[in-house]
Amino acid sequence: MLRYLTVPVTPFQQNCSIVWCDETNQAAIIDPGGDLPKLLTEAQRLGVELTQIWQTHAHIDHAGATAQLARKRQLPIIGPHEGDLFWIQGLPQQGAMFGFPPSEPFTPTRWLKDGDSVSIGHCTLQVRHCPGHTPGHVVFFSPEANRAFVGDVLFAGSIGRTDFPGGDFQTLVASITQRLWPMGDDVVFIPGHGPESTFGQERRSNPFVRGT
Ligand SMILES: [Zn+2]
Ligand SMILES: [Zn+2]
Repeated sequence: MLRYLTVPVTPFQQNCSIVWCDETNQAAIIDPGGDLPKLLTEAQRLGVELTQIWQTHAHIDHAGATAQLARKRQLPIIGPHEGDLFWIQGLPQQGAMFGFPPSEPFTPTRWLKDGDSVSIGHCTLQVRHCPGHTPGHVVFFSPEANRAFVGDVLFAGSIGRTDFPGGDFQTLVASITQRLWPMGDDVVFIPGHGPESTFGQERRSNPFVRGT
């Protein structure tokens, strides 16, 4: 069974999630944006073995510590979709712009595309490509656990910003309605910032996608 712990990191309080298979204790870390000592302490406290990095997209608060963690622990970097290559290459400039510690670009071990899957221990999650906030944004969905890790696609009561380079409002709304909603109203999602919610709750009350 898939388990997870969400740890807010960076001044942007980005929800980094440590996800693991409770039969093997093998873990992946989704979006290690920063605060590596805090993340490594949590993983150790949980008694899980970090074996992969999964990346929803390449904004600095999600990917700022990815290169460093991969090198330190010899971990493969899985994702995002290659539409985010320019964001990955721009990580040093993103860091300078937002006052983050120096950040390095990286080369993903594996780019992801819509319909792929990723596995940790005995748990497999589905990958959906959800562009709009960034061109290469992906989300990770576990039907078994009824959980989706959606990065900055959708928030409780809001949606991702679309005013950055490569962002597009209509594309983002299409990603939400065509790729997230079919997962099911009762699915709990873990957004990149703020509290969890369900897709059904957002379909009813989120002003950006209400009634879609
Ligand atoms: Zn973002
Ligand atoms: Zn973010």
